Amino acid sequence: MQALDATRIAAPGRVRLVRGSHIVLPALYQGDHAYILQNDDRRIVFVIPYEGRFTLVGTTDVLHDPADGPPRCTPEEAAYLCRAVSRAFRRGIAPADVVWRYSGVRPLQDDGADNPSAVTRDYVLKLDRDGPPLLSVFGGKITTYRRLAEDAAGQLCAAQGNRAPAWTAGAVLPGGDLGGFGAAAFLQQAAQRYAFLDPALLRRLFRCYGGELDRVLGAARRREDLGQDLGGGITERELEWMRREEWVREPEDALCRHTKRGLHMTPAELDRFAALFRRQPAAMAE
Ligand SMILES: Cc1cc2nc3c(=O)[nH]c(=O)nc-3n(C[C@H](O)[C@H](O)[C@H](O)COP(=O)(O)OP(=O)(O)OC[C@H]3O[C@@H](n4cnc5c(N)ncnc54)[C@H](O)[C@@H]3O)c2cc1C
Repeated sequence: MQALDATRIAAPGRVRLVRGSHIVLPALYQGDHAYILQNDDRRIVFVIPYEGRFTLVGTTDVLHDPADGPPRCTPEEAAYLCRAVSRAFRRGIAPADVVWRYSGVRPLQDDGADNPSAVTRDYVLKLDRDGPPLLSVFGGKITTYRRLAEDAAGQLCAAQGNRAPAWTAGAVLPGGDLGGFGAAAFLQQAAQRYAFLDPALLRRLFRCYGGELDRVLGAARRREDLGQDLGGGITERELEWMRREEWVREPEDALCRHTKRGLHMTPAELDRFAALFRRQPAAMAE
């Protein structure tokens, strides 16, 4: 195998790192509807019902300097989002109302735009064939990530002489196979199979794992078969699944990134979860 020249990685183009932060507030309104607010800086801010008891507000567009470390929602960004909400809702919102905040970085192709909001969100793939094939990916969206992935794999396969046709466009994602049932019918049947589970817990598990529900719950026939509740309704069995199938490594992977159960827990419950998490063995067989 040929060694990869590290300078090639920097060569294909420049990336603009644009941070987007979100805040979570106690529910601002009742109902399932979302709002898109036109902000006074020509940007839009979305307001979405979140996790039953909360409202999610986002995002910002701020150039991110990697030297500042991992992305965090700064006080300025939280204040900006609170102002946007306060402008549109009767109830004023202040940063003190924020119950959680999180942030991500968009690795966009640098198209020379002055304004971080205006940098293109389209994806660009650049294949360097000067040596072992090196594919650089810029940008991307949730709405195009499958197309992007297929395109990227296709280019790399072709560069290796593999001309097999792309096949992923119609492939079902993990959890997406409900055996031909709609979500409501699937859940109704699951409620019969798992009558020992609290309906709210079953609904949450279904929302997290979809058609993988039976694998997550395994052969459980009684609530005790799932092990103890580690906090927020996450059982030992569910945590085993997350570790084995979803590569959860830290308590916050389970509580914040995936299930969002952390939002519903007190600081003492979070501490207890973290302690139990560290006690449970990392790898388990199904
Ligand atoms: C702030 C922000 C706002 C956005 N807003 C929008 C929007 O409004 N609309 C839209 O369409 N798109 C939006 N996007 C873009 C969208 O989120 C991404 O394009 C999309 O998530 C890319 O999907 P992916 O599966 O390719 O990668 P990711 O969603 O990044 O998934 C990659 C996964 O791999 C994991 N991973 C990485 N390295 C390793 C490793 N070595 N071992 C194990 N796991 C690893 C990561 O933890 C992650 O879970 C936004 C992005 C950001 C950051």
